[in-house]
Amino acid sequence: MSHQFDTSLRFVRAARAYFHGRVLLRLALFLALALPLAWLAIYRAHVELRATAHEESSRNVQNLSHAFAEEVRSTVTSIDLSLSQLRLSWLRNPAQFGAIVAELNTHLQGQLLVNVIVTDARGMAVFSSAGKLTTPVDLSDRDYVRAALDSGGRDQLAIGQPRKGRISGLWSVQFSRPIVRADGSLAGVIVAGVAPSYFSRFYDSIDLGTDASISLVRKDGIVVARTTRNQHAQDSGRVLTGTPYAPGSGPYGSFHRVSRLDGIERYYGWRTLSEYGLVVTVGQAVKDAQARYAGQRRLLLRVGAAVSLLLVLGAWIALTASDSRRRAVAALAAAEARWQLALNAAGEGVWDFSFASGMVTLSPSAQGIVDAPGVLQPFDRAAFRRMAHPDDTAGVLRGLDEHLQGATPHYAGQYRTRLGNGNWRWILVRGRVAERAPGGRPLRIVGTVADIDARKLQEDEIRHQAHHDMLTGLPNRLLFNDRLRQALLGAEREGGKLAVLFFDLDKFKPVNDTHGHAVGDLLLQQVATRVRSALRASDTLARIGGDEFVVLLPRIGAAPDARGVAEDILAQLNRPFFNDGLRLDISGSIGVAVYPDSGASAEELMRSADGAMYDAKLQGRACIAVRSAA
Ligand code: GH3
Ligand code: MG
Repeated sequence: MSHQFDTSLRFVRAARAYFHGRVLLRLALFLALALPLAWLAIYRAHVELRATAHEESSRNVQNLSHAFAEEVRSTVTSIDLSLSQLRLSWLRNPAQFGAIVAELNTHLQGQLLVNVIVTDARGMAVFSSAGKLTTPVDLSDRDYVRAALDSGGRDQLAIGQPRKGRISGLWSVQFSRPIVRADGSLAGVIVAGVAPSYFSRFYDSIDLGTDASISLVRKDGIVVARTTRNQHAQDSGRVLTGTPYAPGSGPYGSFHRVSRLDGIERYYGWRTLSEYGLVVTVGQAVKDAQARYAGQRRLLLRVGAAVSLLLVLGAWIALTASDSRRRAVAALAAAEARWQLALNAAGEGVWDFSFASGMVTLSPSAQGIVDAPGVLQPFDRAAFRRMAHPDDTAGVLRGLDEHLQGATPHYAGQYRTRLGNGNWRWILVRGRVAERAPGGRPLRIVGTVADIDARKLQEDEIRHQAHHDMLTGLPNRLLFNDRLRQALLGAEREGGKLAVLFFDLDKFKPVNDTHGHAVGDLLLQQVATRVRSALRASDTLARIGGDEFVVLLPRIGAAPDARGVAEDILAQLNRPFFNDGLRLDISGSIGVAVYPDSGASAEELMRSADGAMYDAKLQGRACIAVRSAA
């Protein structure tokens, strides 16, 4: 039965685990939501940083493209100025022209001009600062010469496609203007060649990271000059397509693309120099632009990783707990099922008493069993005494105290409880301390209660049957012997006397034979009633055989007292019995034995009384015989 108490304790523990599990499950759900949210926030911050870097870089390259455009403009203007002055010198004094060019180059320290060429009106070279012309050189097919020849008298600057000098092997960009005489006729073309690197000086003044680029591009997409960190790259003359600064796209702007020339992804700022048909671009590698924020992004990722780790750890703990919760719930269900099954099968109820609140709680079936409400408060020993049978309370409280003091593993007791209608009901109460304070003081005791009233009745019945005669309801030989022994102990102790009267009905058999067994039975019952009524309450009348009865007189003054009782019995038997319209006349033969005169033990006394009864039979029946010890 202690199994049930173990189950109940498991039940309480499982219930606690269940509620604990619920909290953790909520935590797990929270974390499952929090993890993606955290990463979403990190991703957004990441994207924002990227966008910020992009914006910042675009602004920078645009601003720098303005500065670069100004520098190119001033450079081209100074080249153009030189070209106009040289043209005047040519017209005034062609013979001195070589010296003037040499002087100019000395003045410029070779930084700007590479070469100066003059052609006639057909495009045939007539002067070159590179050396004396020994053979005719036709330059009319060169775009910068062609542009000046075809200008129709309009004096404008043309910028040629960069090319590598056939003789010098050096790259140069040609700037040209037509030479027009005072009368307006075309005298030829003057050309100044400039090294593309001349435009690259700007590159050194900017700080846009290692993969920055600056370019000077003609409107037709041909690269005039381009500078990157790779000093050996020769991009002059290459053609760019698909640029966003194509004609009609405005004076400046920015874009983002992978360079067609070196494959590096950059943010570009650009600006047009429309008067020269040029566009300048300044590019910053995306990698360099983003590098500024790399530290912050790394920090973001670390924070994300740390947060995730915490979240995952938390979720793991919560999920493990939720797993144990599931197991706890399953255990709870199983324990509850077993508990319910056991209790229902036993028809038992549950009670739970808290020492702190002095409150006892009863389950519905417990309420039915003790006929009380679900909560009894205050419930103490006085309240218990009011409910329990006075004969039972002491035993119950003794057993309970033994358990509370830890002397017994659990408590069990049977007692009668008072019902609402005033009746008593036998109940079986079991309990066990479920919680104790650290010092061992009991805090809570839980247990079961069962209705054992029917069982008690049955037990009483069985006990009664074992000790009584079915027909007359009188004690049987077993009980008689028991009482005789008890009485003998008392008589021995006190030195008193007792008597055993043994009687057998006379001629009873013929009643059966004549009137039937049922009449005989009825007569035996009448004999029992009549003889019983002639005795004192303390005397015992027992039926020990067919028509044999014994009487115990537990306390007599002297042997004649026993004879007196025997005479009373005989008188009763001699009176006729009326039974179902019949008059039955019987009698009885009575043997008397007295302690200690006729015997010292129960057996001796019985034997003496039996013998005396036979004496009476032999003496002609319907009389009394007394036997003293043999
Ligand atoms: P005696 O005068 O010598 O005592 O003779 P009796 O006719 O009384 O016969 P005896 O005492 O020898 O036998 C008792 C008879 O009682 C035997 C049996 O038929 C009858 N008897 C025994 N038990 C019962 C019983 O329970 N009910 C009935 N009706 N008769 C019983
Ligand atoms: Mg008889």
